[in-house]
Amino acid sequence: MVEVCNNELICANLTVNDKGHLCLAGWDTVELAKQYGTPLYLYDEGLIRARAALYQKAAREAFGDSARVLYASKAACFKALLEVMKEENMGIDVVSSGEIATALAAGFPLERAYFHSNNKTDEDVRFAIENGIGAFVVDNAEELYAIEREAAKQGITQKVLLRITPGIDPHTYAAVATGKVDSKFGSAIETGQAEEMVRLACSPVLSHIHLAGFHCHVGSQVFEPDVFLQTVEIMLAFVAHIQSTFNLEIEELDLGGGYGVRYTEKDPALSIAENIKTVGKRAKECAKELGIHLPKILLEPGRSMVADAGMTLYTVGTVKRITGYKNYVSVDGGMTDNPRYALYRSPYTLLPADTMKAERGMTASVVGRCCESGDILQENVPLPESISRGNILACLTTGAYNYSMAMNYNRIPRPPVVFLTKTDTRLVVKRESLSDLLRLDI
Ligand SMILES: *Cc1c(COP(=O)(O)O)cnc(C)c1O
Repeated sequence: MVEVCNNELICANLTVNDKGHLCLAGWDTVELAKQYGTPLYLYDEGLIRARAALYQKAAREAFGDSARVLYASKAACFKALLEVMKEENMGIDVVSSGEIATALAAGFPLERAYFHSNNKTDEDVRFAIENGIGAFVVDNAEELYAIEREAAKQGITQKVLLRITPGIDPHTYAAVATGKVDSKFGSAIETGQAEEMVRLACSPVLSHIHLAGFHCHVGSQVFEPDVFLQTVEIMLAFVAHIQSTFNLEIEELDLGGGYGVRYTEKDPALSIAENIKTVGKRAKECAKELGIHLPKILLEPGRSMVADAGMTLYTVGTVKRITGYKNYVSVDGGMTDNPRYALYRSPYTLLPADTMKAERGMTASVVGRCCESGDILQENVPLPESISRGNILACLTTGAYNYSMAMNYNRIPRPPVVFLTKTDTRLVVKRESLSDLLRLDI
C-alpha cells in the first residue's frame, strides 16, 4: 500500500490540493483535463523561463560574459516555445529545415542558431544559408563541401564549428551515448579524423568556410559530473594542439548538452548551477595549464531545460485484471505521444491525478491504445483499486522528447499543448484533428 507521499512529487512545481487533485504550477490538472480534453501536454512556462535565466547566469559566472546557452530545440520544438527562448535571449540549436522553419515562424533571430545533424541535405544547407543561420556544426567532409558550394553561390563566408568525438563513455543508455569513438556523430580525436577535418576546413579550396571552433556532445541524461570534466579537459587539450599545429585561433568551444533530469524518485536532483560552476573552474585551470585563452564557451541543454516543466494527462479507458498475472490500465494516449518507453524502456512516474489521496492498492501496466504490444507507458504503476473508466492519470516529466517524438501511428492525432503561467493558461498547439490527419492525402 502506498500512501500519498511527497517523494513522488519529484519536482517543486507539483502539489496536491484539498480535493486530492494533482496540481502543476498551481493549476488543478483535473480542471485542465476537463477544459482542454485528454490526452494533453502541459508546460509550466515560468519554470522554462527560470531555467533559461539560471543556465545563462551560471554559464556567464563559470566561463565569463562571452558564454552563451543554446536550447537544443529537438527536445521540444513548436512556435510558442521558441518564442520563449527568443524572449529569454537564448540561442538555439536546430537539426533540420523543419526546426529552422519553426524558429523563423517564432521570429527567432537565426544568427543565434547553430545547425546540427549528421546528414544535412543540399536543400537544408541552401535553406539555412539563405535564412542567415549563425553557424553550421559540421559532422563530416561531404558537408564541408556542400556548405562551401552553397556559400560560394550565395557569396558569403559561412561560420562553422566541427563536431568532435572526444571518446568518452557517458554511462547512459547506448541509444543516447554519442561521444564514443564509434559514434555515428562527429570525427574522433583518437583516430586522427578530427585533425584531418581541421586541415580540410582550413584548406584554400574551402575559401568560403570560416572555422570558428569545435563542438562536442557526449550523451544525454547524464548525472556524473566527471563526464563533463573529462570532456572539457579533452576538448581544451585538442584546442591547444590545433592552435599550435595550424597557427589558428579557436574562438568557440561548444560543450553540448546532456544534464540528467528526475523521471522518478530514484533519480538524483542535479544542481545545474553547481555543475556548471565546477566545469568552469576546471576549464579555467586547464586553459592556464595549456597556456591558451579560454574560447567563448557554449552550452546546449535540451532535456534539462524543459523536461520537468512538462506533464501529460490521460483519461483511463479500460481496466483489465488478469487474475494471477497482471493488471492493465489503458489510457487514451500511449506510444504515439510518448514513445520513450518503447524506445529505451525509459522510467516515468505516473500518478492518479484525480485521486491523489486514495490508497494505492494495486499495480498495473499503464498502456496505450495502439495495436502494438510494446505500446506501454510504464510497468508496475501503483494505482488505487477503484481506478476505472474516466479517471485521470498524469505522467510527469514529459516536457522533453515527447511532443517532439510524437507520431500518428494508427492514425492517432497528436495531443494539444497548453502553457501555464502564474495568471493564465493558454493553448499554444492545437489538438490534431481528423482532417489534419487527412490533409496530405490526395
Ligand atoms: C540532443 C542534443 C543536445 C541536448 O541534449 P540533452 O541531453 O537534451 O540536454 C545538445 N546538443 C546536441 C548536438 C544534441 O544532439
